[in-house]
Amino acid sequence: MKNYAVDSRGYYGDFGGAYVPEVLYENIKELQDNYLRIIESEPFQLAYRKLLQDYVGRPSPLYLAKRLSEKYGCKVYLKREDLNHTGAHKINNTIGQILLARELGKTRIIAETGAGQHGVATATVCALMGMECLVYMGALDVERQRVNVEKMQMLGATVIPVTSGNQTLKDATNEAIRDWCSHPQDTYYIIGSTVGPHPYPDMVARLQSIISEEAKRQLLEHEGVELPDYVIACVGGGSNAAGMIYHYLDHESVHVILAEAAGLGVDTGQTAATIHSGKLGIIHGSKTLLMQDEDGQIIEPYSISAGLDYPGIGPLHAHLAKVGRSEVFAVTDDQAIDAAFELTELEGIIPAIESAHALAILKTKKFAPDDILVLCLSGRGDKDIETYLQLKNKRS
Ligand SMILES: *Cc1c(COP(=O)(O)O)cnc(C)c1O
Repeated sequence: MKNYAVDSRGYYGDFGGAYVPEVLYENIKELQDNYLRIIESEPFQLAYRKLLQDYVGRPSPLYLAKRLSEKYGCKVYLKREDLNHTGAHKINNTIGQILLARELGKTRIIAETGAGQHGVATATVCALMGMECLVYMGALDVERQRVNVEKMQMLGATVIPVTSGNQTLKDATNEAIRDWCSHPQDTYYIIGSTVGPHPYPDMVARLQSIISEEAKRQLLEHEGVELPDYVIACVGGGSNAAGMIYHYLDHESVHVILAEAAGLGVDTGQTAATIHSGKLGIIHGSKTLLMQDEDGQIIEPYSISAGLDYPGIGPLHAHLAKVGRSEVFAVTDDQAIDAAFELTELEGIIPAIESAHALAILKTKKFAPDDILVLCLSGRGDKDIETYLQLKNKRS
């Protein structure tokens, strides 16, 4: 990927950079100076790819969803990240970053988590590598996501409930950054999406780019062509989307369609649709679009999906939307729920509620009969069953 790559200062156009407190300057500089050399090195690539294959279960299948395709009159391929170990794409990133942390000689791992998916993926790789793991999680999310908290604990991680602010993801991230500031020597911070100060957005995008690397090869096997007409993904911070589009971005014939979470609706005040309603600001070390009021105070986001419930957006995605390389739809809770039930009914696959936002695009946008779509099914719906069943009962 060349045309949309990060520049040497960590920017994608107007977005990105590294806005960190003085005490973290050395850590960020160390990462900036070393991440490319390490992750492009042969020993790293060997270890990373071996674990992706034997531990995560990659390559994830590219599945032609026949009944879904019939319904929408085009060819819909699903990139099955839901079949990965721990149930989503997040493990691709945590495997990569734990190897990097080890290479940098760090022994203590910290992470933030919202729904707990990134926390579980981090606790998992820490167990795998025998490293200490602390996960910061908003106290409200700790309550809402019991099962993931228990998984993290079983995996040997310490989960620290955060009681500041809204007691959700943003506050957990603030606390993780605070921890990093007090332990800059031995601690590595595994960020869970294409957000945060440079080089995290680029690093996470590269670690997730395995998704489109495989998809290209797999589509060639299925269809005799490398390039689909459309690639589709949901965006929270933007990591599964970045991975799904990475190797297609320089091919302008491939349309990029992204779904952000509208919550109850973009204009209701109950939304997480940052690209639609955000303005330029700084959050968690990065200059990007941010949901904020006139005084620059962060507006608390809302979405039924905890994984998309973030007031910022990765700087790559802010840039792609601004220059028109991506088309971004805001998908409501209701549209996502409908799409989740539809996939379950037609294909026997229960998607994560985040991924269901991407599926809802099929109903929103018209496609031609010979269009080939590759849609990132970022995760499985096990964690969302209770929500789905409650809504189903309410509706019937
Ligand atoms: C965390 C999560 C997301 C959102 O994160 P991105 O960084 O935007 O990919 C999407 N889908 C699933 C299944 C998740 O767990």
